[in-house]
Amino acid sequence: MLFPTEFDVIVVGGGHAGTEAALASARMGQKTLLLTHNIETLGQMSCNPSIGGIGKGHLVKEVDALGGAMAIATDESGIQFRILNSSKGPAVRATRAQADRILYKAAIRSRLENQPNLWLFQQAVDDLMVEGDRVVGAVTQIGLQFRARAVVLTAGTFLDGKIHVGLQNYTAGRAGDPAAVSLSSRLKELKLPQGRLKTGTPPRIDGRSIDYSVLAEQPGDLDPVPVFSYMGNAAMHPKQVPCWVTHTNAQTHDIIRNGLDRSPMYTGVIEGVGPRYCPSIEDKIQRFASKESHQIFLEPEGLTTHEIYPNGISTSLPFDVQLALVRSMKGMENAFILRPGYAIEYDYYDPRGLKSSLETRAIKGLFFAGQINGTTGYEEAAAQGLLAGMNAALQTKGEPAWTPGRSEAYLGVLVDDLTTQGVAEPYRMFTSRAEYRLSLREDNADMRLTEMGRKLGVVGDAQWAAFETKREAVARELERLRSTWVNPRILAAAESERVVGQALEREYNLADLLRRPGVEYATLMTMTGVEGQPLAGPGVADPAVKEQVEIQLKYAGYIDRQAKEVERHDHYENLKLPDNLDYLDIAALSFEVRQKLDKQRPETLGQASRISGVTPAAISLLLVHLKKRG
Ligand code: FAD
Repeated sequence: MLFPTEFDVIVVGGGHAGTEAALASARMGQKTLLLTHNIETLGQMSCNPSIGGIGKGHLVKEVDALGGAMAIATDESGIQFRILNSSKGPAVRATRAQADRILYKAAIRSRLENQPNLWLFQQAVDDLMVEGDRVVGAVTQIGLQFRARAVVLTAGTFLDGKIHVGLQNYTAGRAGDPAAVSLSSRLKELKLPQGRLKTGTPPRIDGRSIDYSVLAEQPGDLDPVPVFSYMGNAAMHPKQVPCWVTHTNAQTHDIIRNGLDRSPMYTGVIEGVGPRYCPSIEDKIQRFASKESHQIFLEPEGLTTHEIYPNGISTSLPFDVQLALVRSMKGMENAFILRPGYAIEYDYYDPRGLKSSLETRAIKGLFFAGQINGTTGYEEAAAQGLLAGMNAALQTKGEPAWTPGRSEAYLGVLVDDLTTQGVAEPYRMFTSRAEYRLSLREDNADMRLTEMGRKLGVVGDAQWAAFETKREAVARELERLRSTWVNPRILAAAESERVVGQALEREYNLADLLRRPGVEYATLMTMTGVEGQPLAGPGVADPAVKEQVEIQLKYAGYIDRQAKEVERHDHYENLKLPDNLDYLDIAALSFEVRQKLDKQRPETLGQASRISGVTPAAISLLLVHLKKRG
């Protein structure tokens, strides 16, 4: 057999975006090549070995609902799981897991190696092949040429990456990996809108040098241990371990302040903007000057290593300052640093240069996903990678692109925010970014997306069967609760008080009773009649079905209201704007608005309305123009 050099889709980069992109394209039946610097680093976590959290966990569940790998790989590698906000409403509850970074990489790699239609090849990509206005392939460091009809670029922090530790700096993609310098220069020649951002990571500590006896232990949720994937279960999890907590103190803060004159950030050596929501410790000390202490979580990096990730002290201060600040904290007096902390500056591309499919507007067939688009985080990268891989595959099949709307998925919110607003700093997901967050919950990502995923070809048979079984079980149970009636004749007052908090004065169905505040499904199922007969139970055993039934009934009022709001809004939100609309010619609009619309060429009226400076009044004028134009 000839060595294959022609593919439908090439994915460049084997990080979180690239691996999901390659898997998605291959699942859709397209002949796919994943080209990456190093096969050993497929699925590598550059920073914190943790997946999920508020907003981010929602994205992971959506990736999972669309057949992606991140959630199931986390189930196979997670050494501590927690549900954040568990006492709050379902919209903001989020799963977070601490992963064993070696097991996580192994889980991702095994999926890649066993995926039909997917080829892996280790080589740096130095150039893209572009013919006219279309990408046609990629050229590697040793001059190999691979041709494809679509290319997904997911180069992460590697494009012209520069690492800073104090006033020292050097070229790298992340610690221990080379930067993509040639590819960066080549992309600059293509004149795509580009800028510089930065991110940072803390020093890693040898756990054997930490005195745990003086630290507070923080266990994960153990009863039950949460599960990430719709196809996962707790039996997949490796051994669960605790984290530990220490704190910065006045001495730590003094050490940091005294080191600022050798900080690359505070001396202007770093030009890129860093993530406001994930600041370095030197940033935190300056910005929250009155705060006397910051909590630092000491998180194990895995089951087969002593390495500890001190979450909260990301820094690019010089090494001697790093060592002193680490050793100033309780339990860390003799800490040994295994790897210095650092900041990295890298090229990103203005995501306003992308269509909502994540295809670049300038070069047909070229898609960008992940950190290259100005985002930060594994989850944001994975979600974009999945979407770009799907759309690259759809394009090479001659089918229209698909992107979920803001009312359908956090993925829709992410892509819409990026492509209409651009980024001024590394973008991360929060639940507050979603206006329809009551409908976009972690628990219903499958209900929102799996059917579409199946239609588009990314959801396999086993996942589809499991989804259908769950969906039917939820529908059946809802119907049973709505059609099972109890009344004061068969339900004694005392039993009614035990289960629903008061005696019934008339007949109710079980769905109505479950809707009442404080009434729980599990207790309702134990309700017995005056003759000892079960009135409601035993109910369903599957916790995921129970959760759906409970949420759908208890929050029905809010969810229905939000659905109506979405419906009202949808008409204008999804109104397509003609490709050939000459915005510069719409005299009713201000010159600034005309220029902005002409530059960004929104695909829908909804997108137009979110471009900064495009006011509601301008949208009304645009609508009038569209109506006149017919
Ligand atoms: P990456 O995971 O960076 O993967 C890029 C891949 O592309 C790599 O496999 C690389 O080898 C490959 N590649 C690049 N160029 C080429 C080429 N020319 N040819 C072949 N292969 C290529 N996120 C947070 O949420 N919080 C944080 O605190 C945080 N801190 C970070 C600190 C550091 C130092 C770094 C480096 C990253 C940090 N991140 C953080 C970001 C997180 O790591 C990324 O958001 C995420 O990994 C991005 O995924 P990606 O797939 O876009 O890129």
